Amino acid sequence: MLELFENELNNLKPILDQVTSASLDFLENIAEKATYISDQTVTAADLSDVGIGAPGSLEVFRKYYEKLMVASPGPRYWGFVTGGATPAAIAGDWLTAVYDQNTQSTQGAGDVSAILEKETIRLLCQLLRLPEDFNGGFVTGATMSNFTGLAVARQWAGERSGRDVSREGVSGDLVVMAGTPHSSVVKSLGMLGIGSNNVVRIQVPAGREAMDVADFERKLIEHQHRPVIVNCSAGTVNTVDFDDIKAIVALKQKYPFWLHIDAAFGGFAACQPAQQHLLAGWEQADSITIDCHKWMNVPYDSAVSLLRKEHSRLQVSTFQNSNAPYLGDPSENFSYLNFLPENSRRFRALPAWFSLTAYGRNGFEWIVQNSIACAQAFGTYIQSSEHFELQAPVRLNVVCFRLKSGRERMPVFLDRLNRRGKVFMTPTLLSGEAAIRAAFVNYRTTEVDILIAIREMEEVMRIL
Ligand SMILES: *Cc1c(COP(=O)(O)O)cnc(C)c1O
Repeated sequence: MLELFENELNNLKPILDQVTSASLDFLENIAEKATYISDQTVTAADLSDVGIGAPGSLEVFRKYYEKLMVASPGPRYWGFVTGGATPAAIAGDWLTAVYDQNTQSTQGAGDVSAILEKETIRLLCQLLRLPEDFNGGFVTGATMSNFTGLAVARQWAGERSGRDVSREGVSGDLVVMAGTPHSSVVKSLGMLGIGSNNVVRIQVPAGREAMDVADFERKLIEHQHRPVIVNCSAGTVNTVDFDDIKAIVALKQKYPFWLHIDAAFGGFAACQPAQQHLLAGWEQADSITIDCHKWMNVPYDSAVSLLRKEHSRLQVSTFQNSNAPYLGDPSENFSYLNFLPENSRRFRALPAWFSLTAYGRNGFEWIVQNSIACAQAFGTYIQSSEHFELQAPVRLNVVCFRLKSGRERMPVFLDRLNRRGKVFMTPTLLSGEAAIRAAFVNYRTTEVDILIAIREMEEVMRIL
């Protein structure tokens, strides 16, 4: 063995101890770390012939780059929909690399990881109050989960027109409908050859991002001779609006369509008895997207794709990894290789398994409740402020607001606020108007963080 590797293996404990101490330095001080770093210089160095070993690279990384890591898992990173990482999730993630399983088959693979992945899905469905009607698997993020659900939808639509899309390629004979689809849904349609322009937009009532169900039915009637895929939003990123899933499901009896629900973060509203109604009927979906690296506070990259078990055959037609016809009942001979886009896969379920086991129903209910309370408190400040106003009601855990006057100064305000490094928010467009979003998903966020953010905002306004 190369001496370098021999050394590494003989020094595993000191190496991992150093990693532990670097981790503690970051995690224990995260509330004070900057949420924005202006200096983004990367020292370019060529690949050396002689490596410096893991302790050496840790030292170089810590010297040059550790200080440039932003506190995105910290309590005041309110941009996008950014979750943190709980201790149990970090433990599971670290161990995923240690065990380094290639998670594939629940039968005859000689390792338990795929069985444990299915078990993790079962626990997650219990948390989200979903029945055991779905095949589930981990993918890198909600974008890939939307891609996966819509890929099987495309296969379904193809079959309705007598076409095996996975073998014969895409035909133009399907219709996708959506009210306010997430950008990743539109991107997925592009990747799937359906075309990102080919979405029939359902009207949304003024001030809402949810479909007008009457308009939806009109469009179903208009397109009833073609296979229809419906993308339903369960939690839009700007105003956390929910399509009326119950009403949409009711129409499924009359006009058969494929129902995909993008519940990337909104699905976690089901943890909470008070918000559960927002997802009423979602157990009837054909496919569902859930992100674990947002409201579940599992590190990137972690999301789940749920597909109805009765679509197992379609799912395998979509993702089969061989040209041989599938033998036997796929639900009894389950291999992720034939059910999801990736072939080799990391044991991505482990951080979620650790989290679900560590925190249970009460833990996640608390996280959701805490985020909603934080959003409400911040929303109350915006409403009473002399400088700002809400741009949409605070429906759940996102606050969308703008300057009351001098709106052309919003980009400058946001840039200055972010550059101070104490709180991070992102810009958006809501009904064509510029807005600022603060999204609450991190379990660490408290009232103190809201007060810090308010102080920062007032200070920026004072000198704007
Ligand atoms: C974040 C998000 C996505 C995309 O998820 P990634 O994890 O970033 O790939 C899709 N849909 C919704 C509603 C989201 O909030």
